[in-house]
Formats: sequence, C-alpha cells, structure tokens
Amino acid sequence: MNWEDNVRKVVPYTPGEQPKDKVIKLNTNENPYPPAPKVRDILNNFDISDMRKYPPPDADVLVNAIAERYNVKPERIFVGVGSDDVISMAFMTFFNSEKPILFPDITYSFYDVWADVYRIPYQTKPLTADFRINPDDYKCENGGIIFPNPNAPTGVLESVDMIEDIVKSNPDSVVMIDEAYIDFGGKSCLELTEKYENLLVIQTFSKSRSMAGMRIGFATGNEKLIKYMNDVKFSVNSYTMNILTQICGAEAVKDEKYFTDTVNKIINTRERSKIKLKELGFEFPDSMSNFIFARPLKKPAQYVFEELKKRKIFVRYWNKPIIKDYLRITVGTDEEMNTLFDALEAILNG
Ligand SMILES: *Cc1c(COP(=O)(O)O)cnc(C)c1O
Repeated sequence: MNWEDNVRKVVPYTPGEQPKDKVIKLNTNENPYPPAPKVRDILNNFDISDMRKYPPPDADVLVNAIAERYNVKPERIFVGVGSDDVISMAFMTFFNSEKPILFPDITYSFYDVWADVYRIPYQTKPLTADFRINPDDYKCENGGIIFPNPNAPTGVLESVDMIEDIVKSNPDSVVMIDEAYIDFGGKSCLELTEKYENLLVIQTFSKSRSMAGMRIGFATGNEKLIKYMNDVKFSVNSYTMNILTQICGAEAVKDEKYFTDTVNKIINTRERSKIKLKELGFEFPDSMSNFIFARPLKKPAQYVFEELKKRKIFVRYWNKPIIKDYLRITVGTDEEMNTLFDALEAILNG
C-alpha cells in the first residue's frame, strides 16, 4: 500500500478567517464599501438562460474593458479567477528554471506555497530593518522574481525607479510585480511593460474594486508573455471565469468615478487611523495600502489580537519570527475604525 508515496503533498496556504457571525472584519483586506452600482443592474437584468452555455473562454468583454481602462491592447491583458489564479498560472508558465526564484522573507505567504506545489526552488531575501526591499539582493542568478508593491503584510511602497532597476538587471528572468494594493496611493509600474518584455504586472478587483467574492484578477505584460500564459491556461481549464463575473467585472471597471471616490474614502480613513494608532501607542511602517501593519508598544500583539477577537473585532496576526509583534489591521469604514479605537483604548489603557 504505497500509493501515498506518489501523492503531491503540500502544506496549503492559510487564508484569513471568514467568520459566520457578525463581526467587525478587519482581517483580510476586503473593501468595506459595495462594488460599483452598475453591478446591481447587471444582476437584476441577467437572463438566466445564458447560464446554459459555457462562458466565453477568452472573457473578451472583461479583457476589453480592462484594456481600455489601462490604455493597453487587449493582447496584453490576461484575466484569471482572482489574482491568486493569475499568479499561480504565471508561476507555472514562467518559473521553470533549475535556479531558485527570489522573493522577500516577509511577503505574501502564498508565494512559497505555489513554489512548493509546482516544485519550484526558491530563496527568500531579507527585508531591511525598516521593511524595505534592497534591490541589490535581486541582482544575482535566479529563475524569476516576485514581490508585491506595496508589500504585504507591511504596506510599504517601493518606487517605480527601484523596480525598473531590478527588471533591467534581470533580462534572463521574468519579474512579477503583484500590485494588489497599488490603487491606494502608489504609482503602478504598468507603463514599464511597454519597455521591458520580462515584466509582468498583476492586479486584482478584490481590494480597490470591492469584488473579492467575484474573483477577478489580471496581468499586464508584453504580448508574448500573455500568449504564453494563455497557452498554459487553455491547457488546464478553458472555462475558469463564469459569465456573471465577466460581465459584472466589465461594468465595474468602467465606473471610474465610483472607483476614485471609494479609494479616496479609504485613503482618508487610513490617514486618520495612522494618527489615532500613534496616539494609542502603536508603531508602524508608513502604509500605502488599505491596511496598517502596526506594533502595539504597551501590550503583546497576540494578547491584543485575542482581546479584540473577544470583542468581535477581527484583525490578522501571525505568530512568526520578525512579525510576531505586529497586527495587520485592514482599513474599514470610519465607523468600524472608531469601534476599533475604542476597543484598543480599553485593552491598552483600561
Ligand atoms: C489579496 C492579495 C492577492 C490575491 O487577491 P485575489 O483575491 O486572489 O485577487 C494577491 N496578492 C496579494 C499581495 C494580496 O494581498
């Protein structure tokens, strides 16, 4: 009975909790505001007999809407079922070297899981003491590079110039920049994809467009990169994205005003939260995302995490080296943040 010898054994990614009862949920960086109002109309008017048919495998309505919004040719857009799907496909497509791929030691904890499941060797590069990426760490031989900008869970933004430096220094590997949080005040390096054929920029509708439940992510890159990704995708499953998601996503991306208003509300709440958290005795790297990675100085982070949970306020905590003194707090509505601050006041100073 040795069949288990040949199982692809993996340690899966642990997502943030999705509690069933009503809580203040600041643990998975979801957007507290609803998606663009047009999405409601699409759902109301959808002809359910369209569900009989397979969805368009190339998701052309969505691809074209994204291409128009970002002013690139549709041939330079790949869409997937969340950016997790896009990144997973990109790993499978581009990271096939014997040399290790590189990513920071403190980063999105799905990267090492994908590397393991696809048997891709990897090496992590330590962030500096203030959670910055040192570009020189990424100028050695490698099989590929990936990191988020702003980084997760730190919220620290790196410059487009620094990213260009890394891309330029690595003409023999594909560099992926995971821009899940770029809309909250950062500058995208999407334009660099015109200039460098080894750069893939990945974004998602889950955070800034309030559609985590619909599962939409996309990658922008040179036409050759996108073609290679589609070849792999159509060799695994052609019909990944359902029809409703395709049309809702296309409508959502067209509503620029709603998008800007929502993002600005979150940025304002974030900036206000930074002031408040400082007053409460937290220390944190400056965040350009929709979360703040903050260290309570008066009580241990794990204690604060558990006390918040008792009060039905969920934030994210990792009992891991380097980051075990921090909490990752998603920026919610002003009202949710006020409830959080009152609870923190009681826990830390009560
Ligand atoms: C949220 C997140 C993603 C994945 O988002 P999807 O919901 O799969 O689009 C990817 N990268 C980072 C760094 C994230 O925080």
